[in-house]
Amino acid sequence: MTIDPAAETARLVDALGAERLATAASYTRGNELLLLAGLPVTLILLWLIVRSRLLDRLAARLANWRWATRTLAVCFAFLIADTVISLPWTIWTDWARERSYGMTRQPLGDYLGQTALSALISAALGALFLLGVYALVRRTGRRWWLWGGLLATTATAVMLLAGPAVIEPLFNQYEPVPPGPVRVALERIADDVGIPHDRIFLYDGSRQSDRFTANVSGIGPTARIAISDVALKQASLAEVRAVTGHEAGHYQLGHVWRQMGIIAALAILALFGIDRLFVRAAALLGSRATLGDPVGLPVMAALGAVIGLLFTPVLNAMIRSGETAADLYSLQHVNEPDALATALVKTAEYRYPRPHPVEEMLFYTHPSVEKRVLRAMEWKVTHPATPPAPHQP
Ligand SMILES: [Zn+2]
Repeated sequence: MTIDPAAETARLVDALGAERLATAASYTRGNELLLLAGLPVTLILLWLIVRSRLLDRLAARLANWRWATRTLAVCFAFLIADTVISLPWTIWTDWARERSYGMTRQPLGDYLGQTALSALISAALGALFLLGVYALVRRTGRRWWLWGGLLATTATAVMLLAGPAVIEPLFNQYEPVPPGPVRVALERIADDVGIPHDRIFLYDGSRQSDRFTANVSGIGPTARIAISDVALKQASLAEVRAVTGHEAGHYQLGHVWRQMGIIAALAILALFGIDRLFVRAAALLGSRATLGDPVGLPVMAALGAVIGLLFTPVLNAMIRSGETAADLYSLQHVNEPDALATALVKTAEYRYPRPHPVEEMLFYTHPSVEKRVLRAMEWKVTHPATPPAPHQP
């Protein structure tokens, strides 16, 4: 029997039901509005930090300190102040709203504790990075943005490659996947991409989110496969295979390296923009700081926020093409088109499956579920699974 991929796709997406599709649409559109509204919110908060003269006073008080320690302290103070002042907004967008849509059941206390931990880590690492940027402004003169872009790329590389091994265990518990069919399936995928069996982990992803996620990340000895415990509760074995196959595709196709190349280019462009627009932006925000003075960090951050939002569609387009390639990898290596499709339909609850093409182009980090399911169904038509061997009584 042949199937019609388009009709099959429509049937799978429609199976969510009108009500869940409407909720998905409202959640997704809300995320898009929040991304846009986040910019004015950020700018107002940064303006408040400038107006408070907090950093000026701190820098004046530390005037006797050595340049590097003073710069580090001012940068750290800014990053913490920015997190604290944004907290009401963050709690609403990241926690209250997620809870109201049933995306998480994390208690507020746990959320706040984890937010504080991640804010401290980001502020410490961010301050070190910014110290490097200011040192480059001092040492390399007019071309600082070029060196700064390379520094940003190196920092991103370290985070992408070391993060899974060093940072993530601070937020979740990782343990070996217990023996059973899931483990056997994951071992087969691990063999495919050359990851040793003792680097296959299960983590308590249900702590933060009810979404089923897996990832294959790291490099060399830190490379590993990790699946959220949600997989064992909500996904079929075939779905675990299909999704982990997709993640293995990202890993095997080296998407992390391509991502770093794009980040390098965008970072250099962003810092060049900051270099050219700093004086005007400082005047607008009412700051008297110069580019090389860490007291002017809120001005840099404001420019970074504007430029970052403008870059979003470019980054999204790059990520989307990687997602398509990873889906294809999963189909080629795991050949579970039906399971890939049902796993994808589950993600439609937090990413509306039928976006307007312009909306998809601007905001979607993944191609629409409808497109992805359609590709899986087209694959199914052209690559029938080998029928199971006849049962011997
Ligand atoms: Zn992916």
